[in-house]
Amino acid sequence: GATGGACGRFAPSPTGPLHAGSLVAALASWLDARAHGGRWLVRIEDVDTPRCVPGAAEHILQQLAQCGLVPDEAPLWQSTRGAAYAQALQRLQDRAAAYPCACTRKDIDAYWLAQGLPHTPEAERVYPGTCRPERGGLGGRPARAWRLRAEGVVAWQDRRLGAQQQDVAQAVGDCVLRRADGLWAYQLAVVVDDAAQGVTHVVRGEDLADNTARQILLQRALGLPTPAYLHTPLVLAGDGRKLSKQNGAKPLDLHDPVAALQSAAAVLGLPLVQAPTPALWLAHALPAWAQAWGSPRL
Ligand code: GLU
Repeated sequence: GATGGACGRFAPSPTGPLHAGSLVAALASWLDARAHGGRWLVRIEDVDTPRCVPGAAEHILQQLAQCGLVPDEAPLWQSTRGAAYAQALQRLQDRAAAYPCACTRKDIDAYWLAQGLPHTPEAERVYPGTCRPERGGLGGRPARAWRLRAEGVVAWQDRRLGAQQQDVAQAVGDCVLRRADGLWAYQLAVVVDDAAQGVTHVVRGEDLADNTARQILLQRALGLPTPAYLHTPLVLAGDGRKLSKQNGAKPLDLHDPVAALQSAAAVLGLPLVQAPTPALWLAHALPAWAQAWGSPRL
């Protein structure tokens, strides 16, 4: 648990083995935690159980260990954290910061179509707030999901991307906290667990930057501290899209872990470091990271 001092984390979803892109986030979070003299933790984000692959978490932990990336505590598994998420949702309900929602995806689509908005994936994602209490609430329909009441513009600093801001209600809408199928949503789980683990420095892939404003709103609603954020460059696939398991990222080739670390470091813009073992390589890469990212370059 939280014991004070700097703390970083790597939070993989166990949907498959590590690939070149996820190693970048793992390495950067490790280097950053150590550069701050802090702890480094791993959290297995297995809340979305239908997407989890049996054995993937163990495989990821083994791949990390081959690269010398060993967490300071036993990994936290989100599948064991239901009571903490329920307590957080209760707190939000007590503060009227969460409300029940009866809308299906179809209802949300129909709403935007009626507004004359074309059917686009973006419009589909934004929840128009139909079930907000001040707009009549459930109107007799059965509750499906619980949502956060998102209000206001959130401004935050990313250590790499600089000043960011998002009008959450307008850009993404009131986000789901507990899904219609009863599963906990990523946004709630990540905020509760970053606080429970005492995480002070979040370092993760740039594809997740868009979640940060929502997570800050949730931290504020729950009275939790906001960590510092750094979003790392993505590894792009041949087609220019983000490398992911979905577009056929190959599992990491770890017959030469130092070479894998060197490739990840190149994505992070670090100078080439040579060393015979992963542990020595990490020790040598640390000053380079501290030089590049040790103080906020803003
Ligand atoms: N579990 C998320 C993922 O693998 C990362 C969450 C985070 O770092 O905040 O994409």
